[in-house]
Amino acid sequence: MSDKTVLIAGGGPVGLFCALSLGRRGVPVRLFDINDRLQLDPRAATTHPATLEVLAGEGLVDDMQRLGLTEPIFQFWDRPTGTLVAEFDHGLLKDETPFPYVVQCEQFKTTALILERLKSLPNVEVNFSHEVVDINQSSDNVSVTVRAGGQDKVVTGAYLIGADGGRSTVRKTSDIAFEGFTYAERFLVLTTPFDFKANRGYCARSYFADPDEWCNCFKVAGDGPPGLWRTVFPADPDQDPEVVLSLEAAQARLQKFFPSQEPYEVVHRNLYTTHQRVASTFRHGRVLLAGDAAHVNNSIGGLGLNGGLQDAANLSSKLAAVLDGASDQLLDLYSLQRRTVSIEFVQRQTIANKKRLEEKDPAERRKNLSDLSAIAGDPVRARDFLRGTSMIAMQRRAESITLSGLY
Ligand SMILES: Cc1cc2nc3c(=O)[nH]c(=O)nc-3n(C[C@H](O)[C@H](O)[C@H](O)COP(=O)(O)OP(=O)(O)OC[C@H]3O[C@@H](n4cnc5c(N)ncnc54)[C@H](O)[C@@H]3O)c2cc1C
Repeated sequence: MSDKTVLIAGGGPVGLFCALSLGRRGVPVRLFDINDRLQLDPRAATTHPATLEVLAGEGLVDDMQRLGLTEPIFQFWDRPTGTLVAEFDHGLLKDETPFPYVVQCEQFKTTALILERLKSLPNVEVNFSHEVVDINQSSDNVSVTVRAGGQDKVVTGAYLIGADGGRSTVRKTSDIAFEGFTYAERFLVLTTPFDFKANRGYCARSYFADPDEWCNCFKVAGDGPPGLWRTVFPADPDQDPEVVLSLEAAQARLQKFFPSQEPYEVVHRNLYTTHQRVASTFRHGRVLLAGDAAHVNNSIGGLGLNGGLQDAANLSSKLAAVLDGASDQLLDLYSLQRRTVSIEFVQRQTIANKKRLEEKDPAERRKNLSDLSAIAGDPVRARDFLRGTSMIAMQRRAESITLSGLY
């Protein structure tokens, strides 16, 4: 391979983190993003211990803590009775990780931190307003057709990473199936500066079980104290999105969640469709998938972007080794490791999280909540539970997967 350039489609958090991890290893990188700048919409925020371990390798955690919030606790509530069912403290993981907490740092802050670092790497080129429209690969290289300013040009490299999100052109052009399902209901996000901790005692990550309308409530730093609270609810698929997103409906929803004499200030409203899907492979020859291009899931538990950043770290170290002469079987190992844990952990956990919160059967509901309470009350079981939610168990499982039996 004479040209060791890695092409990246997509400058979201996963594509940018791949660029940083590869760039810092001396690999030439050319990244293309269709947007003219970083996406600024409020999306993922929760960064779990296992992902903090990965990000610390690139020196990002201190800045994320400075711009975000550090929270060791999360809670489960029973919304109809207003009872705190279970509280988990990441402090129980202090012997297993240097980061026994989550960092609530909005995705757009993390991407800005990464982009800033990329500016000091002369071997990394970041091109906004460049859309990847087609791909061709041979045994020697891969080329992408990139559209910019109404002109198409062909760019060639050794490998292509498709980090171009859930609707990935790279995945579709490579004919890789995206297996799974789409939920009927949409997810509604309403953001308010109302201080749920001071007024109600909720911590920065609180989950509410309710047979009528589950809810997640979590805090982000926003532009600084006092911060913002993001509430997530299921929304009726048959209702007109304009109605669901109207200020009146948002107000009514929040008032139902927490009745208040004063109207809520609602600073952001968003409605989105949610899928549970995993690509049939994360590798097709010289094309690799990572992040939402490879897997999507509901946001309950905050696992999606975390999984994507873990993909990026796993893939970048293997790809750099292959470009340095190691066997390209390492890339099959990447696909096997990350696809397996995406199914075994992220898909399974997020589907179960939603089921637990929305359970309608009274007996099943009671059992779910008393199980959670019993787990939280037993330090050994709570530590085990936290190993799962913090994605530490998932990372250890990925590391344990080998190619034996595949070749
Ligand atoms: C409301 C909401 C809340 C969420 N909350 C959480 C959470 O709490 N925790 C969590 O872990 N996850 C959460 N997620 C999921 C998380 O936001 C995604 O997993 C994350 O954005 C995936 O990053 P990515 O880089 O793979 O893809 P994206 O962020 O989608 O980035 C893809 C990039 O590719 C670019 N692109 C697309 N097509 C092309 C093309 N053809 N050519 C060039 N560029 C292209 C896009 O412009 C974009 O910049 C949430 C998602 C939503 C919508």
